[in-house]
Parts: sequence; structure tokens; C-alpha cells
Amino acid sequence: MIRFIRALLADFADLLFPTLCLGCTNSLGENEVILCTKCRISMPETNQHKEPYAADLLNKFAGKVPVRFLASYVYFTKGGLVQKLIHGIKYKGRKEVAKEVAGWYGYQLRLESNLIKEIDVLIGVPLHKSRFQQRGYNQADWIAEGLSEALNVPNRTDVLICKRFKESQTRKNRLERWENVKTVFSVENGLAIQDKNVAIVDDVITTGATIEACAVKLLEAGCKSVSVLTLAAVHQ
Ligand SMILES: [Zn+2]
Repeated sequence: MIRFIRALLADFADLLFPTLCLGCTNSLGENEVILCTKCRISMPETNQHKEPYAADLLNKFAGKVPVRFLASYVYFTKGGLVQKLIHGIKYKGRKEVAKEVAGWYGYQLRLESNLIKEIDVLIGVPLHKSRFQQRGYNQADWIAEGLSEALNVPNRTDVLICKRFKESQTRKNRLERWENVKTVFSVENGLAIQDKNVAIVDDVITTGATIEACAVKLLEAGCKSVSVLTLAAVHQ
């Protein structure tokens, strides 16, 4: 009970005091946002954008769907700093965290990646209506918005639609996940992506099954290429 109350108070503190570091809960300094400098420096960056065609990354999609390049900002580890960020973004209503952190990544990509210059449009992995209503926002759209501002590339939320509710993926293996997601998405306003290089944006990439399902639909609808940008990546 005391633990429960403590957790509740911590959640409450997050809401009332966004001036505390989301990583270590120390007070943020004047020029610090979301994370204190110490936590921000310790972010486990993947630097994948420096090797965007790395085989071990694209192997997730090899033989299934052509993905041009894939890059994630940081590694997700259980109990680590990135899990706290993602938890805040997905379950504590901190959508501004999604946009801010994606902005940091976008800034880094703009400086250090030539491929990123070829991206014409960003598209967040959509949420089903019921999940959207429950959370009040789609975190992938907020990540795409942060990237969009930093990269000066449009973010479209009206192209890829989630038409069927996706059951929880956590207890499924790769094949089951794929069966589960392949009929979930559809494309509207296909003209917006005709002959465009699209980057699919999501919070965390695990098996890649959800992103694969999105990529198939976008390619079917006539986009020129599909790449993938995510905030976090899970080692698989
Ligand atoms: Zn900190």
C-alpha cells in the first residue's frame, strides 16, 4: 500500500513538477529540459545514422519488404533511462517529451546524415481510434512532429490509418506478430506519398513487424521508398 501511494505521489510529482529530470528526478537547471545534463550525456545513443545500411539492422526486413535505411536514436534497456523516457511518453501523458527528444535526434540527423536530406515526408505509425482516445494522443505523431520541425520535412498524420484494433504484441512470437498486424493498416490520401521517399516514425522498434506492415501498405500505395526512424531500439 505504501509502495502504491509512493508510486502515485511520484506520478503526481511528474505532473506537477515537470522541472524534475525524468531520468534521475534531480531538479532541472535553467537551460535543461526533460533531462539534466548528466542524464542527457549518458543517453545510450546508437549512432546508427552513421551506418544506415548496416546489415544487422536491415536484416529485420530482408526478404520481406525493401527498407532503404533504418536508424534509432538510443538503445532501450529494461530499467534504464530510455525506458523512463518511453514510459513517460506512453503512459504518463508526457507527449511533449516525445517531441522534444525527437527534436534532439532530428538536430543530430540534420548535422550528421546525408541520407536524411532525401526524406520527403514523415509518417508516424498510427494508433487505433480506441487507443488514441484512451491516451489522448499518438506518441509516434509527436515524435514525427519533433523530427519534422528539426528537419524541416512535413509530417502527415492523414495517410496511414489503423483500421483494426491490434491485440497486445508482447506475448507473441515474430510470426504471430506479423499475422496480427498485416491487416491492421491502410492508406488514405495516397497522392500525398506518390513517388515520395517516406520515413516511418515510431517510438520503439522491437521485431519490426508493425513497421513492416506499415511499409508494405505505403509501398503498395505508390511511395518511392520507405525508411525507418525510431526514438529507441531494443536489442533482439
Ligand atoms: Zn538526470
